[in-house]
Amino acid sequence: MLTNAPRGTKDILPEQVRNWLRLENKIRELCALYGYEEIRTPTFEHTELFSRGIGEGTDVVEKEMYTFTDRGDRSITLRPENTASVVRAWLQNKLYANAGLTKLFYIGSMFRYDRPQAGRLREFHQFGVEALGEKNPAVDAEIILLAWEFLHSLGLTELSLKINTVGCPECRPIYRRKLTEYFTENADDLCADCRRRLEKNPLRILDCKVDRDKDFMEDAPRIETCLCDDCREHFNALKKFLTAAGVEFTVDSRLVRGLDYYTKTAFEIQYAPLGAQSAVAGGGRYDGLIRELGGDDTPAVGFAAGLERILLALELQGLLPAQTKKIAAFVVSGGSAAEVYAFKLLTDLRRQNISAVMDFAKKSMKAQMKSAAKSGAKFALIVGDDEVASSTVTVKNLETAAQEQVPIAQVAEKIS
Ligand SMILES: [Zn+2]
Ligand SMILES: [Zn+2]
Repeated sequence: MLTNAPRGTKDILPEQVRNWLRLENKIRELCALYGYEEIRTPTFEHTELFSRGIGEGTDVVEKEMYTFTDRGDRSITLRPENTASVVRAWLQNKLYANAGLTKLFYIGSMFRYDRPQAGRLREFHQFGVEALGEKNPAVDAEIILLAWEFLHSLGLTELSLKINTVGCPECRPIYRRKLTEYFTENADDLCADCRRRLEKNPLRILDCKVDRDKDFMEDAPRIETCLCDDCREHFNALKKFLTAAGVEFTVDSRLVRGLDYYTKTAFEIQYAPLGAQSAVAGGGRYDGLIRELGGDDTPAVGFAAGLERILLALELQGLLPAQTKKIAAFVVSGGSAAEVYAFKLLTDLRRQNISAVMDFAKKSMKAQMKSAAKSGAKFALIVGDDEVASSTVTVKNLETAAQEQVPIAQVAEKIS
């Protein structure tokens, strides 16, 4: 127990942290390019924020949240996603007062009690973007492009973009009725979950993993036939913007998000080699959410990308090169006077921005030289009684084996 992390969590070890940093740096670089600013919200929130913001009746809220009562008798939940928190922060801090459009991004841990498998953990990491306050479909296109360019810039090739529209509170009820009618006729062939969805959320039947290949799915009514003018124009405009940006996409009428505050655009980017867990980024418009969380009616659009899955995709494509750490200097000392002298040298080098380490185990100088060679350091800086007496350091280039005795004041200059 004590030496095992909880199921569904993972240590990110130093050699992996380098890959994470690369990903995070790319995110920050790209978001700056698109004018999105970073926001960091708390890891836990009042449970109600998520039950309202994600929706009662969703799997996340019903089965997957880490919810507990704190010592003050409040119901608290570890965030299972970040959109609701961003909207809460936007409302609480009146970020809407600044300008028409607020453009934010986040990187952080999310928590869901789910069956752990490749690319899916109970504590997992997401990068996401939210644009609050604008209904223009150009914003939908902008965030899709940001997600797309991000994944491309990492070197991933087998990516595909699927888009759809899920209508709005005006036209979706008509579609919903059509779907309910259609699936009621086929109710005997639906899985148990979908029979329940039939009343609550018939749209979700469209993306059911169990029923997706059954014959009647093929002929299910499509939303195109029900869209209102506003939704139709929005979707057409989005397609024009994406085409103008040179991004290939397919329209997938089964791509749905069932809740009422999701409106119009839905999209997903898949990396096919990942198989069943191929979605690496997904999002869409949520014009009804801000009102649901107590704000004024405000249009908004966003996406989230799973960083574990993206790293898995990079690994599959051989894009995670082994990176070697580089230390400039390894300080080697013999004798207790030399040890203090060496420690001062070590400190001086670091103050001059030169990376340096030394061995603290009081090993023989021969053993320390071995450690120096193994460390990958470029120079060994050797100090013994002679060097202490003459205020010098023996500088050995570990790549060429050349060595010379240098006054201690000139060491930094010598090796930088
Ligand atoms: Zn509509
Ligand atoms: Zn089903």
